[in-house]
Amino acid sequence: MQKTATALKHLTIIGLLSLFTQTGGVVFLLYKLLFWVLNKNNLLEKHRFLVRILIFSSLYFLVNIFLVPIFAKWESGRVPLPVFGNPVLKPHQIGYFAALNHHYVRPEVKASCERVAAQLAKQFPGTCLYYLDANFPFFDGYPLQPHYTHRNGITVDIALHWKNKTDGKPLDGAPFPLAYGVSAKPLPGEVDMEDKCKNKYRSIEMRLTEKLVDVSKYELDEKITGEMIRLFLKEKSVCKILLEPHLKTRLGLEKEDKLRFQGCHAARHDDHIHVIWCN
Ligand SMILES: [Zn+2]
Repeated sequence: MQKTATALKHLTIIGLLSLFTQTGGVVFLLYKLLFWVLNKNNLLEKHRFLVRILIFSSLYFLVNIFLVPIFAKWESGRVPLPVFGNPVLKPHQIGYFAALNHHYVRPEVKASCERVAAQLAKQFPGTCLYYLDANFPFFDGYPLQPHYTHRNGITVDIALHWKNKTDGKPLDGAPFPLAYGVSAKPLPGEVDMEDKCKNKYRSIEMRLTEKLVDVSKYELDEKITGEMIRLFLKEKSVCKILLEPHLKTRLGLEKEDKLRFQGCHAARHDDHIHVIWCN
């Protein structure tokens, strides 16, 4: 009975780690093996819990920093987006988007993001392009939860740019660690897809985030956000960008065919843009 319970517990851990980090399940198996070898003479019985956490997290970071990039390039052709190496292109939250392996893309996608980030920083010194969820390192078709379309290395979510309402100063990133849910909602007179769609689930992240952050203190930096989208649209290899219709109009981008509404069944896109490169 005890053995069955332990096996079930381990299977659940492996399943969850594979779902949210892709490689964590395999690292967990390696950790079990290593712990068994190191603990053969019961040397680690003292401080057992701390030692386990330390061994697993060291192994997780060693594998993901040194081995995963090599195997990913070989298996899927994907490379990691910069984490520390580029001052103008960074993950919005290192402890989430990079630590959980959500930052892998095809090399041409990385090059495109680097170009846009460099041009944006040239026009607006001090501005950084922050990426959110991209893709896992391995296997075409393996979706990054909860975004079912982030599965082939050609999609990246990018944060919008914000400023303080009081002094107009630009913020360094969105006013919430994950950026999702900080929505630039329709202003009076703008088209509101919330009324047209009648799907209460499309705004779930916005409602949750509004409980944690006072979004009313901030406003969208239309100048920088508009220019960032224009730079992505100019990239020949970018096929489509998802954005809410009211922002498409507000930013003066109505004529851009590559800019699309994601449909009523997907989450709203006035808190980030979802950029899709051509396959
Ligand atoms: Zn997306």
